Parts: sequence; C-alpha cells; structure tokens
Amino acid sequence: MTRMTRKATRHTSQNEGLIFEKSSPGKAAFKLPPLDVPEVDAAQLLGSSERKDLGNMPEVSEIEIIRHFTRLSTWNYAIDLGMYPLGSCTMKYNPRVNEVVTRLPGLANGHPYQPEKISQGALRIIKTLSECLTEITGMEAITLQPAAGAHGELTGLLLVRGYLESKGNPRKKILIPDSAHGTNPATAATVGYAVENLKSNAQGMVDVPSLVAQMNEDVAALMLTNPNTLGVFEQEIHKIAEIMHAKGGLLYMDGANMNALVGKARPGDFGVDVMHLNLHKTFSTPHGGGGPGSGPVAVKQFLEPFLPKPVIVTKADGTLGFDYNRPQSVGRVRAFYGNFGMFTRALAYILANGPDGLRQTTEDAVLNANYIRKELEDVYDLPYSTPSMHEVVFSDKLQAKQGVKTGDIAKRLIDYGFHPYTVSFPLIVHGALMIEPTESESKQELDLFIEAMRSIAQEVQEEPQMVLEAPHHTRVSRLDEVAAARNPVLRWKPAAQ
Ligand SMILES: *Cc1c(COP(=O)(O)O)cnc(C)c1O
Repeated sequence: MTRMTRKATRHTSQNEGLIFEKSSPGKAAFKLPPLDVPEVDAAQLLGSSERKDLGNMPEVSEIEIIRHFTRLSTWNYAIDLGMYPLGSCTMKYNPRVNEVVTRLPGLANGHPYQPEKISQGALRIIKTLSECLTEITGMEAITLQPAAGAHGELTGLLLVRGYLESKGNPRKKILIPDSAHGTNPATAATVGYAVENLKSNAQGMVDVPSLVAQMNEDVAALMLTNPNTLGVFEQEIHKIAEIMHAKGGLLYMDGANMNALVGKARPGDFGVDVMHLNLHKTFSTPHGGGGPGSGPVAVKQFLEPFLPKPVIVTKADGTLGFDYNRPQSVGRVRAFYGNFGMFTRALAYILANGPDGLRQTTEDAVLNANYIRKELEDVYDLPYSTPSMHEVVFSDKLQAKQGVKTGDIAKRLIDYGFHPYTVSFPLIVHGALMIEPTESESKQELDLFIEAMRSIAQEVQEEPQMVLEAPHHTRVSRLDEVAAARNPVLRWKPAAQ
C-alpha cells in the first residue's frame, strides 16, 4: 500500500521542456491601468544602475508562475508531508508558534550594532535561553555563539585546550569511541589533537577496561556521545568520568542526542565537563540544507573563563550588556552573538512546553523508537539488544542474503511515501538502518511506517529485483549520487535554441 499516486501525471512528464518552459512573448503576471502621471526618465532616476538588458527573462502569467513554484515544492519531501525517520538527526516537527515569535518585528528587525540600551529585550532572550539550557544540562555556564553542532565541538575542544594550556600542558590526544559521529574525529584533528580510537563492547557501550588501558597523561579528553549513535545510553558514564578525571583529562559530551535525556538526566550530574547542544535537533529550530543552526556549548565553572567573548553580564545599573574584558577567552567563534533567530525559536519551544512538557517529549521520543523496534525486530536484524533510547539501529543482514542492502530498502521506502532512514551509519554496524521517529509522530503514522517496512521485508523475499530497482514512483529513480554531489546542477537551464 503506498500513499503516493502510482499514475503518471503531467507533473511527472518526462518532457522537461514542457515542465519548465512556460514562457511565451508578451505574457505578464500583472496588468496596470494607463499612466496618469508624467513619465519619469528612468535613466535620470537610476543613472548607471539602470539595467537595460534584462536577458532571457521568462514571460509568464500569474497562475503559471504560482503553479510552477508550488509544483516544484511538491517534488521535495518535507516534515510537513510525513515522517522523517533520519536517525542521529532528530528531525522533529518545528511548531509554527516558534516562527510567529521569531518574526515579531521588534525581534526580527533588531540589528547587532544597535546600542545595548535599546537591545535589552534581545539580551534578555539570550540570557533566559542560556539559563534554561544550563538548567536542562546541569552545567554552570554556556555560550550560544557556535552556529552548528560541529562548530560547538570545535569551540568545546578549544576550551579544553585553553584550560589545559593554562595548566601548563595542552596534551596530545583525544579518545573517541568507534561509534562516534564523523564530526568528532574531524574536530579533534582541527584543534590539533591526535585521535585515538576506543572500542565498544558487545553491548554497544564504551569498553571500560580499554579506556583504563588507553587513558594516560597524554590524553586531553574523551569525546563521548550519550546516548551514543547506537541509541544506547552509556550506563558506566560515572565510572568513565572518574577514569578521565583521575588522570587530569576532561569528559566532552556530544549532546546532539539530548532528545533522549531532556528532563530526565543531566550530563552535568553524571560527570560531563563540557558539551554542545544542537538547538536545530533537540530544541525544534529548523534543520538541514545548510541553513542557520545553533550549537551552544555548556561547561562546568572551571571552564567559564575560557568561553568565547563577549559574554552577557548584568551591569551595575541592572541592565544587561556584553563583557569583552575576558583575558583567558579563546576569542570569538562567530560574528556577533550567534544565530539569534534560532534562540527565539528554541526559547519559544522551551517555554511553550515547560519542564513537564519537555520531560513528556523525551518519554514520547523514547517510547516511539521502542515501539518501532518491537514491531520490526522479527523482520530486521537487531545487532545490539541493549535497551534503545530515542533511536534504534537495525542491520540489513537478513535482506543481504537476497542481495538487497540497506540503501535499497531505503530507496523502496520512498515509494511508500516516507523519507529514508539513515543509511549505513553508525559505521560499527555493517549495513545499518538507523531509525529515529522523534516524539512528533502519532501512533497512526508509526503504524504506517511499520507497515511499509514490514511490506518491504516481504518484497525482499518475494521480488528482490523489484526492490533493487526502486524507487519506482519518483520523477527520477536511481541517481549517480557521487556525480550529483561532485557536480551539482542547481539551476534549470533552457535547452540551447
Ligand atoms: C548532528 C550531529 C552532529 C553535528 O551537528 P551539525 O549541526 O550537523 O554540525 C554531531 N554529533 C552528532 C552525534 C550528531 O548527531
């Protein structure tokens, strides 16, 4: 059963020219009454900025242009159309109220060069969000400057380095588990550290005896994602923190998976020294396509002097302002104070939910992942049976016997009207299918997804070739993804006339 129409419609015509070439000479999308004022000389008004040659501008009617862009928008998949089960990405729904708040003219039109005394509202938002996030994480200070998760990692490790340097030795290595997100080792290398791999045990958690063996005075920090990319909570996190601290190392937590912890457990309470959050994952700000993100970094008090400057302070007269006098600061990591529009959205989300609502969100996200796990574990291989948190990772082991891989199953899922799950990640699971439904989805939507996944498992047994050729109902089917990434064609060009 698919939710998408199987019929070819004129919107899926193979004739690209008919779809894109709407222009014919003399058409316009507006009609104006005859001029009843003296005509102005454009050249006089615009001077050298007058553009005389408009090039090959399309001439179309209003309805043609409206239909054109509306049609293009439906060729893409979006969270507004259905579930987006990309594991590790937390593709939750962003409530519209966040957008309404962010577009309030007083917030949207604020300028970073405005004097502090007429920016008190914006500063109050930054401060309130900072306080909410330090409370949620159990940390003691925070910077909202970084513009993405990976940028937060970079900032966090610069803080680690700055702190250790102030103690006389920045150290040489960062330990990173084999289940880590690819950005972690890249960050460590960028900050000038050597990366040492730490292996996981049979439960998918950090192997503590290996950590003991590898931890020494050359190690600056351990970068740990918790829950990790298998969706597994690191149950020995207290012991891991103790091992790090005993030898003068720090515990960095990649907090991109905080959707599983908010309102339930606080990294600051289980020994984490420094961590980043992804507002564009956990706190419902828009996500993906390289758009503005936000990766705040929260720290324990001893790292506070190293935070990027400026920091927000309450001045003697009770107003808020920026403090630039921060001699130990690692410096700025971004222009001004980060992506302000993300702050208003995240704060709207946090305040709209309140503490109980945020806790409920976490519970629903974990429940949804476990519902999917239970309903699919008899048809897809589950490599780690440790309890799942907000996401579940299967493998394609059973389907691979028919020659069908995780990427093929994902392509077939598109025919059923769903965005694919995360394919082939984390790397420690061969042929991974990584699924994260988030709290946004209703039981009805989860049931549709489960039905689609079960139906594909059956198709793999009965008609593997059909699955290998999927998707069958999209405008284009199997693309050369490498070529598309290397030589992107981002603009329609008319055929040469
Ligand atoms: C998404 C993610 C990141 C990177 O965040 P970006 O905002 O994409 O830079 C890092 N670690 C984990 C575990 C993630 O899921």
